[in-house]
Amino acid sequence: MDNNNFQYSPSHSPAYQALLQAGPRLKPLQQVHAHLIVSGSHRSLPLVTKLLTLACTAGSYLYTRKLFFSISNPDSFLFNFIIKTSTKFHFPLHAVLYYRRMLIAHISPSNYTFTAVIKACADLSALGCGRVVHSQALVCGYSLDLFVQAALVSFYAKCGNLGVAKTVFDKMPERTVIAWNSMISGYEQSGFAEEAIGLFLKMRDFGVDFDSATFVSVLSACSQMGALGLGCWVHDYITNNGLELNVNLGTALINMYARCGNVRKGQEVFDQMNERNVVTWTAMISGYGMHGHGSEALDLFHLMRTRGPPPNDVTFVAVLSACSHAGLVHEGRWAYASMWTDYGVKPGMEHHVCMVDMLGRAGYLKEAFQFIKELYPLKPAPAVWTAMLSACKMHKNFDLGVQVAEHLLAAEPDNPGHYVLLSNIYALAGRMDRVETVRNLMIRKGLKKQVGYSIIEVGQKTHLFSMADKSHPETNAIYQYLDELMRRIKEAGYVPAPELVMHELEEEEREYAVSYHSEKLAITFGILRTKPGMAIRIVKNLRMCEDCHLAIKYISVVAKREIIVRDKLRFHRFKDGSCSCVDYW
Ligand code: ZN
Ligand code: ZN
Repeated sequence: MDNNNFQYSPSHSPAYQALLQAGPRLKPLQQVHAHLIVSGSHRSLPLVTKLLTLACTAGSYLYTRKLFFSISNPDSFLFNFIIKTSTKFHFPLHAVLYYRRMLIAHISPSNYTFTAVIKACADLSALGCGRVVHSQALVCGYSLDLFVQAALVSFYAKCGNLGVAKTVFDKMPERTVIAWNSMISGYEQSGFAEEAIGLFLKMRDFGVDFDSATFVSVLSACSQMGALGLGCWVHDYITNNGLELNVNLGTALINMYARCGNVRKGQEVFDQMNERNVVTWTAMISGYGMHGHGSEALDLFHLMRTRGPPPNDVTFVAVLSACSHAGLVHEGRWAYASMWTDYGVKPGMEHHVCMVDMLGRAGYLKEAFQFIKELYPLKPAPAVWTAMLSACKMHKNFDLGVQVAEHLLAAEPDNPGHYVLLSNIYALAGRMDRVETVRNLMIRKGLKKQVGYSIIEVGQKTHLFSMADKSHPETNAIYQYLDELMRRIKEAGYVPAPELVMHELEEEEREYAVSYHSEKLAITFGILRTKPGMAIRIVKNLRMCEDCHLAIKYISVVAKREIIVRDKLRFHRFKDGSCSCVDYW
């Protein structure tokens, strides 16, 4: 009976026509399926295959999967189809299990199979499993297949195994745009922004056509490196080539402009975008916050509440930290309360940190302390204590500071940053004996302060400086000019404040080390290598020290330059001897 369907081309059978008529719509498909079962033709492979592909197009993974399991001997097309479908619907583990069934059924996998299974392993970050599939692809002779190779590059990059990813990438006889993108995004996601940019420039030299995925990764790398020049080049390219400014690309541009110090350009992009999601709005609010434009961040947040998508937990981090940087305590309290009552977003650790930071900076130390004790009666919360400690230091409340520091050390005894903060507090309190004790404790524990560095982009090329760094090819000119700058700012009234930093160094080393902090080297290089009057932009990985903050104010005067520094926490825009943070950071 069943065999009737095979005696003529199935595409002419009434059942097949009924399927075509049903189209990719779930209800009608299920009705035809019921007819097939009643007529006994549900075992016909061509019919079930058609039914299954339509069910997938209709968007029902569950129904597609059910149909697949009703087939007693699926062929290689069906296996490949179900593997691809399960990765498409974000069930990567299913994809791997289907692949296993396929091997057990002695059906040879094709390049199509390997591409999909390797992608599934990437989604699972299953390095071991992916390696096995890789070796099976080699055995089956697909080592040179472009799609398999591109999938492997993406897989190894996503698993953080960049070395192997690069090896596969380098061996590709012909590189698809997907392979380039995977490699660039792999570098970017693992924090190797410089390598990501380097590879992008190579891609540009090779004349490979970019797509929006390339730009999303590169813009994110530019944000990390403060590479505004290259970021602008990307923006121009998008505009000149009529590329669609989709929501991901637009958001990446906003982030890049905000994090590279040009929040106005970010706002222009925001205004141009047709579609904005919660990430877009959050990026813009956070951009304003970083630059200390608290009221603009709040205005945008109010607009979002009425016209945008519902804010999520990340949005509230952006709003609260904007309030904190701008000293808008009343508004911050309101936003914190509104999180749960208006949006059902439960405040987490990051929001608590923002609140403590905001209250602490504004001088409400007791309230901040009480806030922590109520939230964390037992559990240690190092990030919250760190914010509290910075506030104590800022307001010179050393008694409270020492109490907090002890909580902090108990919670995280191996974090060198805490010792540095504690020794700073003691130094400010004039307790040099305690400074010595903390310093010795750090040495005994073998803890080293995190290495600071600053990055500056000149002519689309980035230059990285660490403290007292002499590795730059123009090092002599830089040091010579920096010494001259230091002499000129001292004449203008600058008094070095090395006692506020670097307590882990011997006294005579301090002033020397402070004058060659990485941000001073990067700024000097910038002044030497850019046109007079041009703004200097640098990115610093740690929080700027008090001495650099003071010195840069003076440098902005004697060099007649606007200097924009992005440190770990926020932006500082130095102009004519003052900073946009109003010494509140
Ligand atoms: Zn410094
Ligand atoms: Zn500042």
